[in-house]
Amino acid sequence: VHCCTSTGCQAANSLGVKKNLEGAVKAADLGDRVQVVGVGCMGFCGRGPLVEIDPQDKLYEEVTPDDAASIIESLNGGTATANEGDLNHPFFARQMRIVRETSGKIDPERIEEYIAAGGYQSLYKVIHDMTPAEVVDQISKSGLRGRGGGGYPTGLKWATMAKMPGEQKYVICNADEGDPGAFMDRSVLESDPHRVLEGMAIAGYAVGATQAFIYVRAEYPLAIDRLQKAIKQAKRLSLLGSQIFGSPFDFKVDIRIGAGAFVCGEETALIASVEGGRGLPRPRPPYPAQSGLWGCPTLINNVETFANIAVIIREGAEWYANIGTEKSKGTKVFALTGKIRNNGLIEVPMGITLREIVEEMGGGVPDGEVKAVQTGGPSGGCIPASLLDTPVDYDSLVTIGSMMGSGGMVVMDETTSMIEVAQFYMEFCRGETCGKCIPCRVGTVQMYQALTKILKGEATMRDIEQLEQLCGMVKDTSLCGLGQTAPNPVMSTLRYFRDEYLVLLQDSP
Ligand code: SF4
Repeated sequence: VHCCTSTGCQAANSLGVKKNLEGAVKAADLGDRVQVVGVGCMGFCGRGPLVEIDPQDKLYEEVTPDDAASIIESLNGGTATANEGDLNHPFFARQMRIVRETSGKIDPERIEEYIAAGGYQSLYKVIHDMTPAEVVDQISKSGLRGRGGGGYPTGLKWATMAKMPGEQKYVICNADEGDPGAFMDRSVLESDPHRVLEGMAIAGYAVGATQAFIYVRAEYPLAIDRLQKAIKQAKRLSLLGSQIFGSPFDFKVDIRIGAGAFVCGEETALIASVEGGRGLPRPRPPYPAQSGLWGCPTLINNVETFANIAVIIREGAEWYANIGTEKSKGTKVFALTGKIRNNGLIEVPMGITLREIVEEMGGGVPDGEVKAVQTGGPSGGCIPASLLDTPVDYDSLVTIGSMMGSGGMVVMDETTSMIEVAQFYMEFCRGETCGKCIPCRVGTVQMYQALTKILKGEATMRDIEQLEQLCGMVKDTSLCGLGQTAPNPVMSTLRYFRDEYLVLLQDSP
């Protein structure tokens, strides 16, 4: 009996459900046949707490502690009082699980379960059967691109890093997920921390690094706790640390806890923070692969990127490259939230359309029609319902003024004011700007003020023109990605929902 113990379900008292399930198993004297296992995220977060019966493949939703006894009785032919979910619903059936293949299936706090599911075999394979160059070649051929938002080819990043001279190189896992509405990386770390550690170790072997850091935000205490346990367990079995699998390869992983600044997701700011300084971006070049942590070559990938690696090694680059579109390979995990019936985490093949995600998997909005979908968080844009047939891949989303981002996907209905949405994201950026460069520090404040003036009905056409000029200036002249992309929600709403702006102007035509 699998009971979700990730943060979302815990907030809805899944630990109380688990305790009562264990009590019911004991009371029914079923301990020799039935085991209650606390597992990671099953994905249907909006309907938690979730309980799944394996191997019967029954799912119960919104389970309360009072339902526990009847769920255990149902194993002997009784009737469960909990709501039964539909595992054949498109929310589950349309998914393709690579990154999340064992999420919700294994206990994330027991390394034995990850190993039993094939874990650490890819690490064994690369150390014993492959040269570092062959590993880089496989990752390049797979077509994997960075899942943190930019979509830079992972194999190219690894190849650059592998060529850099130097005794000391570092690997960093960026787990500083900060987009409002995004919780993919938290879920992966809480549900399957060893998958990320294995991917990092394979990267270390491929690029010649012996020390790694996971930079994770302090707001993710459960993820940090499970990572700490996972690192300890892997060290105990010599899967991390010195002489892994009895080979000369050493790889140590430490956790660095960030204080929750959005800008620390930017890789140069992240490096400054790991070094113990203030998280301020710096100009590039030099890129981290040339001069990163303490001036040494440093490879930075995000959680989801590393979580793909072991599967690519296990199944082969060709298998992976056959999934997705020509330029966007594999799957992507999205946090599907907002005005939508089915909230939660989904993993879908690249190239699926927004309509399939929102209407089939998400079940559409509860009342009325979809108005827009926001992807990419504060760096992304608002996509109107008329473009729902757009395939979800890196390039298509950029073409229509948004971006993949790290995987936040917020659905809005007809009651949503798109100017308020733009104002919300600008307020976020105004608060998160590090203040190092003027265009971003001052520009985000001015854009926020302009949006507020429009919403109050005090603006004229001249204000809209100035807002558009400001967006272009901040985009073109800011130092880092935060400032360069901050105008995106404003620009996309001006592009697709201009009438909403115009109707509020004092000199409205
Ligand atoms: Fe800081 Fe913004 Fe400049 Fe980036 S663009 S360095 S966040 S002020």
